[in-house]
Amino acid sequence: MKQRDRVATLHLHIKNQRKDFLHKTSRSLVNTYDLISIETLDLTEMAKTKHFRKSISDTSYGTFTRYLEYKTRDSGKTLIKIDQYYPSTKTCSQCGRERDIKLSERTYNCECGHKMDRDLNAAINIGVQGLIKYVTKAYGTDAIAW
Ligand SMILES: [Zn+2]
Repeated sequence: MKQRDRVATLHLHIKNQRKDFLHKTSRSLVNTYDLISIETLDLTEMAKTKHFRKSISDTSYGTFTRYLEYKTRDSGKTLIKIDQYYPSTKTCSQCGRERDIKLSERTYNCECGHKMDRDLNAAINIGVQGLIKYVTKAYGTDAIAW
């Protein structure tokens, strides 16, 4: 086998492993949860940003989203997409204040005293927004009182 063929075979193997991982992860989420919230990402816009290019293609975000879409639909579960412009990373999941956060800051620190991993903080915000969207759609805006 030529070196070029070995590389192509290895790439195919990695691609299949990645698809398998995305299938298993999306299946596990759909089997476990009735409501799943995800943030929509403008991949074409993000691809223009040098820093994001590799991470987005590596995680196969679009493929994962498609798997979640059909698996939730086929299982009678709910997938809620949160607008990409909702500031999930900037918003404090405890008090709702917004602050700018640099990409290099891995921990979200708020003046209210809340301190948390930035991705977990954003995930909580996306989850809450998903619940609000779901309840509002099912019961109307009066169903939510703060
Ligand atoms: Zn706060």
